[in-house]
Order: sequence, then C-alpha cells, then structure tokens
Amino acid sequence: MIQIKNYINGQLIEPISKSYLDNYNPANGKVYSFIPDSDENDVELAYIAAKNAFKEWSTTSKEKRSEYLLKISSLIEKKLDKLALAESIDNGKPLKLAKTVDIPRAAANFHFYGTGILHYASNAHSMEETAINYTLRQPVGVAGCISPWNLPLYLFSWKIAPALAAGCTVVAKPSEITPMTAFLLSEICIEAGLPAGVLNIVHGVGSKVGNAIVSHKNIPLISFTGGTATGKHIASIAAPMFKKLSLELGGKNPNIIFADCDYDKMLATTLNSSFANQGQICLCGSRIFIERKIYDKFKNDFVARTKELTVGNPLDEKSKVGAIVSKGHQEKILSYIELAKSEGGKILCGGSALKFDGDLKEGYYLSPTIIEGLSYDCRTNQEEIFGPVVTITPFDNEEEVLMMANSTNYGLASIIWTQHLTRAHKMANNLHSGIVWINCWLLRDLRTPFGGVKASGVGREGGFEALDFFTEPKNVCVKL
Ligand code: NDP
Repeated sequence: MIQIKNYINGQLIEPISKSYLDNYNPANGKVYSFIPDSDENDVELAYIAAKNAFKEWSTTSKEKRSEYLLKISSLIEKKLDKLALAESIDNGKPLKLAKTVDIPRAAANFHFYGTGILHYASNAHSMEETAINYTLRQPVGVAGCISPWNLPLYLFSWKIAPALAAGCTVVAKPSEITPMTAFLLSEICIEAGLPAGVLNIVHGVGSKVGNAIVSHKNIPLISFTGGTATGKHIASIAAPMFKKLSLELGGKNPNIIFADCDYDKMLATTLNSSFANQGQICLCGSRIFIERKIYDKFKNDFVARTKELTVGNPLDEKSKVGAIVSKGHQEKILSYIELAKSEGGKILCGGSALKFDGDLKEGYYLSPTIIEGLSYDCRTNQEEIFGPVVTITPFDNEEEVLMMANSTNYGLASIIWTQHLTRAHKMANNLHSGIVWINCWLLRDLRTPFGGVKASGVGREGGFEALDFFTEPKNVCVKL
C-alpha cells in the first residue's frame, strides 16, 4: 500500500508523530493508502523551510520562476495518465473527467501563471512637475494555501501556481480526503528541480494541519477554498491577526431557463451542470428554474435523459457518474433527500443510494436525483447539498425568477438560457453572483476574475487578481 509523505524542504518525509490515517477508494469503500496525520509540529517545520527559502525565491528573476512553473506544467502533461488515474481512484470521479478536465487544467494553471508573471506590471502615477509615484508589488511572504476534495489537483494548483509565480513561498494542505495527486505533485516538483522549501505540502486533517496554518503567527496570507462554515471559522482566526484572506466558498447556483432558449444545447449542458463530478462542483446549477411554458416538456426530457446516465465504476469509460467522495458525504446528501421529502418535494428520479455487486459492493454511489414541488425558500433550496441532486421550479416572469434566484445567502455563479439579448444582459446585471454564464456553463478563461459574493466568499482568484493577492503594493513617492 502506498504511504503518502509530506513534502518539506525539498524532501519527502514522514510526519513527526509517525501516525497515519486511512485513505479510502470511494469506488469500493476500501482503504488503499495511508496519509500522514500531521500536526502543528509538521506545519512549523514546513514554515521554517518556506521562511528560509523566501529570501532567495522572492528575489529570483521572474524569468527563472517562470521556467520552474513551465517545467512543472509540462511534467503534469507528461504524466497525465498516471495523475488522472490517481485522481479518479482517490475521488471517485470518472477517469474520463480527470483526463479531460482535472489534470489538463492543473497543467494549465502552472502554464498560465508561468507565463502570466512575465506580463505582470505595476503602476506609476505622475504629479506633473511636482513628484512621481511608482507602486512596487512585492511578494507577501510565506503563503498558506488550503484546498478541498472535489477538484483536488485542479484547485490545489490554482492557488499554488500564482503564489509561486508572485514570489511567495508556500505551506499548502490538500484535503485529507483526496491527498494523492498533491503527493504526486511533490514528486514532480522534485523532478523539476524546484528549490528546497519553496513549496511545502503538509498532509492531514483540517482541524490540526489547516488550523495550524491559519493560526500561524508568521504566515501573513491565507488562500482557502472549501465550505462556507469552514471559511467563517478561518476568518474568525485570521481576521483579528490582520492576515490577507482569499475565501472561495460554497454555492447554491441558479440555472435559469427561458422558453426561447436553444433547447437542445440547454438540455445537454444542464445535464452536465447538474451532475458532472457527481454534482460536487461549487459551480453546479443545483436550483433549476424553468419558464412555465416549457416546464412540462423540460421535466419529461430532463428526467428521461437523467435516467440514461450510467452510474458506475469511475474507471469504466461508460460511467458518466462515478462514486460520491466519501461515506460521510454520501450520508449527508441522503439526509438532504429525506429533508426534501419532508418539505413536500416529489422525487422524479433517483433519490437513493445505489448498490453494485462484486468489487464495488461497498462503494458510495447515488442515483442522480431530480426533485420538484418545493418552495424556493425551503431549506433544500437554500442550503448547499453538493451532490447529484437538483430541484426544478417553474416561473412566470423575469422579476419572479430574479427574486427566487437571489434569495439564498450564496452568490457564486448563475446560468441563464435565453436567445433574448437584452433580457440576458439585464438578468446578468441583476443577479447576485460573482460569475454569470449565458448559454453555457463552466467555460473558463483563466484571465477572468473568479469568486463569489455574500456567503460564497471574499476576494477573487484568476488572472492578475491572484497575483495582486499574493503581492503587497507599496507606493513610493519621489519629489522632483
Ligand atoms: P471543507 O471546508 O470541509 O474543507 C476544505 C479544506 O479545509 C480541507 O482541506 C479541510 O481539511 C480544511 N479544513 C477543515 N477544517 C479546517 C480548519 N478548521 N482550519 C483550516 N482548514 C480546515 O470543504 P470540503 O473539502 O468539504 O469541500 C467542499 C466545499 O468546498 C463545498 O462547500 C464547495 O462549495 C466548496 N468549494 C468552493 C469552491 C469555490 O471556488 N468557491 C470550489 C470548490 C469547492 P480536511 O481535509 O480535514 O477536510
């Protein structure tokens, strides 16, 4: 069995306590590797390595930093098959998804920031004959990066790449539920010759490792992606310490379908935006609002197409929906389905755990679930479920659907389907979310600001916004 190691000061090492946690394969419910159960002592070792590496890394030329990132990117591409297989086994996601989305995107993140840093510039402000101001952008220091389990390497690298590009050194923690590709990334960094201490990866649980990073008195910046409750807890520790904070949190995204949409495209994309990655993407459109004129047609077609989705072994090419990431998460999703029933929801398809024979017998599977008949403001429609569960609700006009769409505490992403240009822009303008997709979903240009409003987070990732976050502006005023 594989024993994952921490990556500290350029070395793969055991946790100081020498204790390990079980790592489960969600497809069959079996333990298949061991994860360091690290604690604050390992975080301290990682911090010291990162602090010692900071002076040299922060003054290494942008061109040289870029070279390292591009090398890491091309090694990820070269090892795509190995990484995709590891991601699929660790997370339960279909292998095809890991091959076409997760791992290519992780390579793209390093490539994007490896090139982006070469074009990153700061401002000068002239006061005519009196003075000139120029603004330096200096790396903040040792960055703490914490990421979730749903898109493991994709989201881990989305933080690490801009931090390293900006000249910060990093202490990072992947989710303890899906640590494998972060471990493989440490091997890649060693192969790429990344200087010791520049990136340090400490494995373990959030309450020990995550907490030690967040509360470390000399880590001045935290980039976190995860649940809203965890984000709130992190903010309560980090804010009084005046740390820079980027919080990418949960979502309860509306998918708004008008009768004049391109129906076939909408239906195909809506299947994806509902159930891709078992619905475990923060950007999934889990509240579907349909203009009443096409409600019945949509309902029949959507339910029929959903029933055709093959749920099964993530490694099987035919599987469109794989396993839920953990037993605990499967139970949480099932409890929300029970809640929906108690709130008067009618289950149109799915609604229960799926059991297979043979090797997959103990795996965590769930049929894609569609629920109708719920009020827009019930708990099922207000709280994040983060699984293959969507609700469908009819609407009569723009005002009504805007009110329902904006009614949650969340504000990450929205999806609009219409051919009516003016209406599309008006809706986009009035939706409370950081991202709006019109007639598409998950189409990403890495230069664009990424993040949410309200309980979906604070700050933006992506493009130069991330480089701004990992650097501190310093204005210098020169009297002429
Ligand atoms: P969690 O908030 O449970 O965990 C996220 C990370 O934080 C994990 O590495 C976790 O460790 C760690 N953590 C847990 N407790 C603490 C703590 N006290 N201090 C510091 N770190 C801690 O989220 P999930 O992993 O369950 O991910 C799902 C959530 O992430 C959903 O709400 C989803 O919407 C959100 N998400 C948001 C995205 C966005 O861009 N806005 C993108 C993707 C997901 P451990 O391994 O022990 O759990």
